[in-house]
Amino acid sequence: MSTINKNILESLRKELKRQQEHIELIASENYVSDAVLQLSGSILTNKYAEGYPDKRYYGGCEFVDQIEKQGIELAKKIFNAEHANLQPHSGSQANEAVYRALLKNGDKIVSMSLDAGGHLTHGYPINFSGNNYDFKFYGVNKETEEIDFDEVRKVVLEHQPKLIVAGASAYSRIIDFKKFKEIADEVGALLMVDMAHIAGLVAGGVHPNPMEYADVVTTTTHKTLRGARGGMILSKAEIGKKIDSAVFPGTQGGPLENQIAGKVQALYEADTSEFKAYAKQVVENSKAFAAALADNGMRLIANGSDNHLINLDVKNTLNVTGKDAEKILESIGIVSNKNMIPFDTEKPFVTSGIRVGTAAMTTRGFKEKEFIEVARIIASALKDQSQSNLDKLAKEVASLCKSFPIYEHLSEHLSY
Ligand code: PLP
Repeated sequence: MSTINKNILESLRKELKRQQEHIELIASENYVSDAVLQLSGSILTNKYAEGYPDKRYYGGCEFVDQIEKQGIELAKKIFNAEHANLQPHSGSQANEAVYRALLKNGDKIVSMSLDAGGHLTHGYPINFSGNNYDFKFYGVNKETEEIDFDEVRKVVLEHQPKLIVAGASAYSRIIDFKKFKEIADEVGALLMVDMAHIAGLVAGGVHPNPMEYADVVTTTTHKTLRGARGGMILSKAEIGKKIDSAVFPGTQGGPLENQIAGKVQALYEADTSEFKAYAKQVVENSKAFAAALADNGMRLIANGSDNHLINLDVKNTLNVTGKDAEKILESIGIVSNKNMIPFDTEKPFVTSGIRVGTAAMTTRGFKEKEFIEVARIIASALKDQSQSNLDKLAKEVASLCKSFPIYEHLSEHLSY
């Protein structure tokens, strides 16, 4: 047995303490179960298993086959999909594999623009997606800040894309997948939904399931789904083979069987009544949080939230940039991230907004009452940045974190 290098251990201890002593509001993060942690760091990391269950390019794969097969069946069952691939190393690689499976370089894709809430892999010019494919964008309505389906239809009819991408990194309202499907059918385009943010809500039955309308659904497994870090692709059976080949050997080599096991564990967990209750609480917390933020004078993009996340316009109401708001909140122990808002005039590294979410703190046991407290603390910190006020608020944050502990046994483990 070797021990963890002391330099790494020191940072690991500090990171554990940081996770325990901060209110985690990054909408794409969560706290995984001990079982998921164990599997991610298990001996499965040693195994090479290029290929798919029962068709591998390496020997000794019988047990990793068993794990991956369980995951494929569970994913199909939970999301009502005909085909599932658990091998993408990340959400970005899942998206890359889908584009490769269904398109040729230079083909047209219509997706949501980054400032409206889209992801880098939905055609950002300096991302592989924007480089390899011809993306055209739709945004949100200037008044409602919700997806403008007249604009979606207009852009689609004008450009006749082969693929339409629905789904976002920073969109707080339910996306009408049926409307996207109707528009896709008008031009014979395929519909891909990237449900990375909302996968756990879909699994928990508190968000419409995009698989009902989409040809292919991509996701990360580590956000609201609360699994090991990675990606997953669900699709209709008829394109399953193309998707599999685009993942391996198209864009990846050996799958990370340790991470896959952590995804399978999360799927088992997602298939329980406890997880359904968790997903419901995530949404209820988000609604209460949104209402309390508004009551405290904050401006919410799209005027509220139907899922786990909320985008706040801090620049135009409080005259604080997203970058500064993120820093101020971090100084009192609240972690969020700066984020572009629709029609943002600030650069992506500055931004006019911040994005917050309820998935992680709901895992720690926060209910509506605690999120109402956090809303008051956030508004107070951004409005009165005097050191005395920030010191007072930092104490309140510390006390909330202490009342909702996480990974306590790991502190003991890492203390020797
Ligand atoms: N798609 C969406 C909508 C996302 O929000 C993200 C990550 O934030 C991704 C894809 C990419 O996931 P990853 O960071 O695992 O590459």
